[in-house]
Amino acid sequence: MKVSEKIRLAVKKEKDEKTQIKVGENTFGSQKIVIIAGPCSVESREQVLKAAQGVKKAGAHILRGGAFKPRTLPYSFQGHGLEGLKMLDEARKETGLPIITEALSPEDVELVESYTDIIQIGARNMQNYPLLKKAGRAKKPVLLKRGFAATIEEWLGCAEYILNEGNQEVILCERGIRTFETITRNTLDLSTIPVIKQISHLPIVVDPSHGTGVRSLVNSMSRAAVAAGADGLMIEVHPNPEEALSDGAQSLYPYEFESLMRDIEKVAISVGKSVR
Ligand code: PEP
Ligand code: MN
Repeated sequence: MKVSEKIRLAVKKEKDEKTQIKVGENTFGSQKIVIIAGPCSVESREQVLKAAQGVKKAGAHILRGGAFKPRTLPYSFQGHGLEGLKMLDEARKETGLPIITEALSPEDVELVESYTDIIQIGARNMQNYPLLKKAGRAKKPVLLKRGFAATIEEWLGCAEYILNEGNQEVILCERGIRTFETITRNTLDLSTIPVIKQISHLPIVVDPSHGTGVRSLVNSMSRAAVAAGADGLMIEVHPNPEEALSDGAQSLYPYEFESLMRDIEKVAISVGKSVR
């Protein structure tokens, strides 16, 4: 497999080179599979607290939730912004779970950084170069989602922007790409996992929620991702998906997330890893 020689920082120099990124008590790129879970959007104090308690009880390690939402149409819920960040902060205090949330623009980065434990850069923003540079100067890890029309090389080029500004803590996230398929929201490219493992030292997380767009597919794709060597998973979970303001169809009920945690544990053990 050949990747451009111009990519210097995101690629491995030695076969065993591996970047480990510590967030709270969890290390991306270790034997432990790090599970990020929570709602697509932070909708209310009650909703995010409920979601946080539910995923914590099931064994998740990090709480997700968007305060700034990149939506396909301007009429859809855009997130609560600063108020959403405060709600996440409260959920973190309540549960002890570190949090991850998205920064949509370079102007958001400092505010998001001051609240969050990991800065998320979304698929739509993968090639927002001013945003990548700003995140590259932040002092928090960055989770960089793959753009839905991006090649692996283009994605690594974007990771390179962050690394080149001095931030060495980049976590890659495969979340599905656009293909001719329409039954699923995206096509989850699981071959990315071994490809990234062979050419890059960065940890890779898989998001089967956006990757499939269908609740009933999330469990099997999570198991497959763990079997293929993913360092972590990002799963959307909502206390009441039927009433979600975004991505309800792909969000798990808390009880489904509990089964998922049990199911991936078996796969993790079979590949010499753990989820606890
Ligand atoms: C999200 O994680 O809620 C999100 C908007 O994901 P993506 O950028 O992968 O579409
Ligand atoms: Mn979502």
